[in-house]
Amino acid sequence: MRRDLTRSRAHYERAAKRLPLGVTSNFRAWGPERTIYLARAQGPRVWDLDGNEYVDYRLGYGPAILGHCHPEVDAAARQGAAIGGTTALSTVLELEVAERIAKMVPTAEMVRFANSGTEAVMAALRVARAATGKAGHVMIEGGFHGLFDGVLWELKIEDIENEDEPEVKPDGRGVPSLMRRLVDHVPLNDAERLEDVFRRKSDRIAALLIEPILGNAASITAEPQYLRDVRELCDRYEVLMIVDEVKTGFRVARGGVQELMGVRADLCTFAKALANGYPISALAGRRDLMERIGPGSVAQGGTYAGHPVPLSAARKTLEILDETDALERVADYGKRLQDGAGAILSRHGIAHAFTGHPSMGGLFFAETMPRNFRDWVETDYTLYNTFARELNDLGILCEPDCREPWFVSAAHDDACLATTLERFEEAAKVCL
Ligand code: PMP
Repeated sequence: MRRDLTRSRAHYERAAKRLPLGVTSNFRAWGPERTIYLARAQGPRVWDLDGNEYVDYRLGYGPAILGHCHPEVDAAARQGAAIGGTTALSTVLELEVAERIAKMVPTAEMVRFANSGTEAVMAALRVARAATGKAGHVMIEGGFHGLFDGVLWELKIEDIENEDEPEVKPDGRGVPSLMRRLVDHVPLNDAERLEDVFRRKSDRIAALLIEPILGNAASITAEPQYLRDVRELCDRYEVLMIVDEVKTGFRVARGGVQELMGVRADLCTFAKALANGYPISALAGRRDLMERIGPGSVAQGGTYAGHPVPLSAARKTLEILDETDALERVADYGKRLQDGAGAILSRHGIAHAFTGHPSMGGLFFAETMPRNFRDWVETDYTLYNTFARELNDLGILCEPDCREPWFVSAAHDDACLATTLERFEEAAKVCL
């Protein structure tokens, strides 16, 4: 049955008069007809204002690794609330969570907490600049690292389509053009291009910012040799390697993408799955770098940093992820989802490929797997977007933009899979 959005649409009309685009984050604005408002979330499902039920593969862009409203995590959050609210004092929870992170991620020799992925990446770059005495950074095309001026730079899809050497442009207005001087972009899986930039500019480049699984470009994945080359080039040219694990951390493996791919970052950033969705992030890394944080040196902190509610939720979430088979179950479900969905698409003769890790897999309508963001632009992403909207209408909540992976939680079960595949079969008809 197709969804009815009467109430969400009526709410949008009112909300858009008071809240820009009727929402609190641009990414949730799907226009007057398609923006939905949440009534409730539980486990692998969400319900909107009209009572439509969805199997959720957005999971808040990744965080709900154990499913929404996980009873043990929520109970832990309530224990955190009982400690007190914002006191701007540290609690013993901080050390406990930092020690768990250090156990799970060997490069996390020291840890600092913040509230969002954006804040953690900002702090990582600041530490890298302080440690190297250099100001610039390199980003990977298709990478996303939060909403601050230093990283709101990108290659526009239409420019890639129309030009051989597309220009790097700001992601929207209000980003000062003078920041552009600090940023270089290179394609994933092309070590020569990276070396070329380092050779010319490494005296000005503090860090390489990389998601080895591009969690904001359909999980296009770094090849093992490329990652080894990247590590070696960073060492040789004295550029720090910041692995942004905001999406991959505590998801693709206990030790994140660094464990999955055997790569060692200098600094790394976490958020999302860290506390099953409670707002918290972490900057972690080499002791000698992290020890630069302090008065008179690198500024890091904030009124809400280390709030006991998300910290207590993080302690419980990490305990579960570290000590149970939750992540194995997540990956297993993701694999079965891809097998089932792939069989349906093949039966309908729709060329497709999956990439990334099954816990956050990308799906493309193309014969071959893209190796970088420019390849992705060649895929039939408009057809995918039509297909995704059809799935949304049928009660499957994936992002209506194939750059966003399909996120799986430990709460997704056989019933979810059966519903998903049944709706997949129906939605595939719009692609024919
Ligand atoms: N880094 C990456 C890799 C992300 O995917 C995101 C958000 N999607 C961020 C940083 C920013 O995180 P936040 O939205 O918590 O500020």
